[in-house]
Amino acid sequence: GFKCGIVGLPNVGKSTLFNALTKAGIEAQNFPFCTIEPNAGVVPMPDARLNELASIVKPERVVPTTMEFVDIAGLVAGASRGEGLGNKFLANIRETDAIAHVVRCFEDDNVIHVANQIDPLNDIETINLELALADLDSVEKQLQRVTRNAKGGDKEAVAAKALLEKLLPHLSEGLPARSLELNEDEQRLIKTFHLLTTKPTMYIANVAEDGFENNPHLETVRTLAASEGASIVAICNKLESEIAELDDEEKLEFLQEMGMDEPGLDRVIRSGYELLGLQTYFTAGVKEVRAWTIKVGDTAPKAAAVIHTDFEKGFIRAEVIAYQDFVQFKGEQGAKEAGKWRLEGKDYIVKDGDVVHFRFNV
Ligand code: GDP
Repeated sequence: GFKCGIVGLPNVGKSTLFNALTKAGIEAQNFPFCTIEPNAGVVPMPDARLNELASIVKPERVVPTTMEFVDIAGLVAGASRGEGLGNKFLANIRETDAIAHVVRCFEDDNVIHVANQIDPLNDIETINLELALADLDSVEKQLQRVTRNAKGGDKEAVAAKALLEKLLPHLSEGLPARSLELNEDEQRLIKTFHLLTTKPTMYIANVAEDGFENNPHLETVRTLAASEGASIVAICNKLESEIAELDDEEKLEFLQEMGMDEPGLDRVIRSGYELLGLQTYFTAGVKEVRAWTIKVGDTAPKAAAVIHTDFEKGFIRAEVIAYQDFVQFKGEQGAKEAGKWRLEGKDYIVKDGDVVHFRFNV
């Protein structure tokens, strides 16, 4: 599965967000929910298309796809030098696929701010500095190793050395590697360095209930995110934790009253999904209607492997109906009659929403 780490300074609302996320997981009936570690939760991907498919197929069960969120507490200034839970914290981030960086954009005199004032830019810089310094350390080590090979004339080592040397001054300034301009070759190469500041990142601006508009703190974060090519979601974590406590009916009422069409959490989960370049395809049988996660651009055999590796090895063909067609023609039979049922081969690039049945050899 894919993991998204929640980071941010103390007291910005990380735990509140994490608890809301995991509670939303428990409440959704029939959703497989499990807590792996105390600080990790598997959250179902909200996807209205699943219910739509289920109303046509009427399966025994409906299984959503999931995202894993990890609450990474304990980052303080100096973490990269081992302050606080520094090293453990950084090791935890290294294991994630993406980073959700929670930033405090709400004023509340009852909630202490570690730097005594609400200053999102400063907060972000503090966190990014620690991540950049951790990367700097890693880049220096890799540079030592690669310099030896570069002397021997190894072409790859020479390219790696050049890029690592380009990264040094950038990271030294506390800037994330993702804000460095790179050509295509360098973009490919930098992935092999396994840096923290190249992980896809989204900022989660934690605003007050009335803080979605005319909020200069939020605008500051928006501008910064845009300059880094990072995404941003504005959310009121406190409100979300209250929404997560409600049962389904109450939830609907509450959202309507607030003029929201979905919980803000759903946007966080979806943004995490997009950030990772993920998409969903479906299987729709009478036993089970189910969503599966793949990477955008995955071929049919790759998509089959998510269900079972044997499906990939023995792949023959994929029977495919686009989601819209499946719904419009009320299922497989109708889609077939309308000529919307396709047999695709091993080079087929699966599209978001495809309803797929794999044919394979065992
Ligand atoms: P963490 O240290 O980043 O995990 O922060 P917590 O989630 O524990 O939140 C710290 C404090 O801020 C708690 O007392 C929360 O109730 C409060 N808090 C979190 N989100 C909000 C919010 O959106 N508005 C307000 N007013 N308080 C919040």
